[in-house]
Amino acid sequence: MTFIDPFGRAITYLRISLTDRCNLRCVYCMPKEGLQWQAHADQLSVDEIVRVVETAAQGGVKRVRLTGGEPLIHPHIVEIVRGIASIQNIEEVSLTTNAMLLERFAQPLADAGLTRVNISLDSLNSDKFRRITRGGDLNRVWKGIAAAERAHLAPLKLNTVIVRGLNADELPALARLTIENDWHVRFIEVMPIGNAQDWGEGFPAPSERYVSVQEMRAQLSTFHLQLSTSPKGNGPARTYRIPGALGTIGFISPLGEHFCQNCNRLRLTSDGRLRSCLVIPAEVSLREAVRSGEPLEEYFQQAISNKPEHHDMLAAVPASSQRGMSQIGG
Ligand code: SAM
Ligand code: SF4
Repeated sequence: MTFIDPFGRAITYLRISLTDRCNLRCVYCMPKEGLQWQAHADQLSVDEIVRVVETAAQGGVKRVRLTGGEPLIHPHIVEIVRGIASIQNIEEVSLTTNAMLLERFAQPLADAGLTRVNISLDSLNSDKFRRITRGGDLNRVWKGIAAAERAHLAPLKLNTVIVRGLNADELPALARLTIENDWHVRFIEVMPIGNAQDWGEGFPAPSERYVSVQEMRAQLSTFHLQLSTSPKGNGPARTYRIPGALGTIGFISPLGEHFCQNCNRLRLTSDGRLRSCLVIPAEVSLREAVRSGEPLEEYFQQAISNKPEHHDMLAAVPASSQRGMSQIGG
């Protein structure tokens, strides 16, 4: 069997949210008191996750990304990576993390079969980093990055959500990181999903926050960015390079420039629902089926048949009625 959606796109990539919980509270993602967490009993076990990925692999999925919430706080993260990496046809297992625990886990995860990591890094200033993440320690991110490099988790990608009035002034400094490091810095437009409300005193108002990728590129015009080939697994990012730099720069625009045309993704939430689009709320639960040992292919086919041709984020369901990035798996 091959998973092909109604618009002829083959599904080759599965993004799994391992938990909706997190050890940080980034302002754009969660309120500071956290969210209504899923009950542990509702979350898939290691064996259940592995069974779901086995079906996905039989349908043509080759790449799996683990995310959350924060995947490194999952108590069985190493076993999950090992289980998925050993499935036939799975060529790549990657992880998106805030890196607070990466120093400890980089090598064990690489040994278990993890191929690479994306690290979220929204500021190069420790105080600002702590404010944005509500408690994160920038020093631990740097230690996590060093550990990932030692463990050859490459290519290393750094994701930065750019927010006007918060970190947009750091675009040039973040871009400069690529000059001497073979890192891939990707600038992401803030999305009206997750914590789109008031972030409290000292933070920009909702209507002020959005910076388009066109504006980001314009802010970096003094670097004379050249179009460049994309690093492996770069998904929807358009890739550029500062002339002579070791690393690259990407811009991810879920709002302004559609990348739906080539979308090969399916998502699995930590409570066992397949979701065919980040923005469209349709989900198919396979939790009971995996628990009762039923074949899962039909659930995949149903989720894939729901996959929209494209979304219109600007006209999408109000943020208040959506699950946030940490619940869907950003
Ligand atoms: N905790 C991990 C981390 O932060 O890397 C993985 C989960 S987090 C939800 C995944 C990515 O989603 C992060 O890079 C984060 O910056 C991004 N994200 C969360 N809320 C967002 C929003 N409202 N707009 C744009 N990106 C967002
Ligand atoms: Fe946690 Fe990641 Fe959301 Fe930040 S963006 S609160 S690190 S899940």
